[in-house]
Amino acid sequence: MIKVHLGLDDTDSMRTGCTTYIGALLVEDLLKMGCKFIDYPNLIRLNPNTPWKTRGNGAICLRIRCEENKIPDIIDISTKRIEQFSDFESENTNPGLAVLRGNVPKELEKFAQKALWSIVKYSTALKLAKRFNIEVLGFKNGRGIIGALAAIGNQLKEDYTYELLAYRIKENLGKPRKIDKKSVIEMDKATKPFTFNNIDPETGRILITPRGADPVLYGIRGESPEVVKKAHEMIKVFEEVDRWVIYRSNQGTDAHLRFRFKISELKPFMQVIVRGVVSKSPEIIVGRHVIFSIRDETGEVNCAAYEPTGELRNAAKLLEVGDEIEVYGAVRPPSNEHPMIINMEKMQIIKLAKKITYMNPVCMKCGKRMKSMGSNKGFKCPKCGFKNPKATKLAFEIQRKLKPGLYITSPRSQRHLTKPKCRYGLEKSSPPTSMIDYWCSFLHIRR
Ligand code: ATP
Repeated sequence: MIKVHLGLDDTDSMRTGCTTYIGALLVEDLLKMGCKFIDYPNLIRLNPNTPWKTRGNGAICLRIRCEENKIPDIIDISTKRIEQFSDFESENTNPGLAVLRGNVPKELEKFAQKALWSIVKYSTALKLAKRFNIEVLGFKNGRGIIGALAAIGNQLKEDYTYELLAYRIKENLGKPRKIDKKSVIEMDKATKPFTFNNIDPETGRILITPRGADPVLYGIRGESPEVVKKAHEMIKVFEEVDRWVIYRSNQGTDAHLRFRFKISELKPFMQVIVRGVVSKSPEIIVGRHVIFSIRDETGEVNCAAYEPTGELRNAAKLLEVGDEIEVYGAVRPPSNEHPMIINMEKMQIIKLAKKITYMNPVCMKCGKRMKSMGSNKGFKCPKCGFKNPKATKLAFEIQRKLKPGLYITSPRSQRHLTKPKCRYGLEKSSPPTSMIDYWCSFLHIRR
């Protein structure tokens, strides 16, 4: 038996499809062929700021053991599934498949790490594939090979989560999803904080169901395969479930926000952490978005907290010049209308500037607030007429409404990779050593 890693990306479009669904079909195909899974299927989210992504920039990797002579059949069936279920008509859909035998080389791990927070080159991907004998197959412009290789390279060795994805039957695609909202609320209560982002706390909106025409009926994210399965068993739906699979993923881990940069180092499409001091006060622009600037010793950059970011926007609104903060987010390239900007996902307020206000002194005789007699001429009481030529304005510190700490965008506007508040303290540091018995709906196949 030989270890095989199968990476897949860029099969779907806004209109239809989902790479994880092809992954779920392939799980069934591979089990039928007698392959043994050595990990849960991996759902790897890549840089959420890439210009070519359709939705969440997700790629998948299936890691198996099989007889070496089965590999041509595995490539055949994977190609067939891509051909059957990719939206080739969409200009932005350029599927890629990658097949690696044996262990994952260090260089591929590095490539995968870089693909989480910056733009990696197609030519680099092809060079790596050649160097390590990775078979790659690209459709149309072949860009999906980048994601397919990055998915193989990311073995989720550090923090990770799980997502149970349930899929719809073909006949229901495009129709409203029939799911009992009450059962989602109950599931959320029974399983949180070990499942997350089921419901948006600010609006009550159900977040486990996507809204497009893709085949996902719902996805439940959580800390263990057991808890996402328990949660899935609590959900009531009034339509047929085609199949379900538990993916292991870097979702909800902040894997894209690991590196700190100086302002002069920022480049479009990067995911960054930048420390600086607020240099321009927040301004509320059309759409109720909040814009302000920060400065470090290398330059100044605008930062934005958009309207749906909820508590993050509310905190950004209260910043003052001089506050020391760290912003976490995506670098949006400059355009004719605006300079480069960091679209914030999180903000750590490190130190608040003192906000001082100056007031006239009160009269020593009658307690009334005095009036100035002119610059450096002291103050006079308007009530009793008492004059004090030596009096000066008094400085008072205003209590800030904002508190130091971490502010995160609301669940409804979180990226797939954003670590939600409830996951702080639940991070994992090593991969699982075994798999549960039933991690997909068709495991009976191998029994
Ligand atoms: P999903 O809908 O499954 O969440 P997506 O559809 O939003 O994901 P893709 O359709 O996979 O995203 O498109 C992303 C494209 O960008 C793919 O072709 C992928 O290979 C490529 N890509 C991903 N990450 C990077 C990166 N860091 N640098 C360059 N190209 C990337």
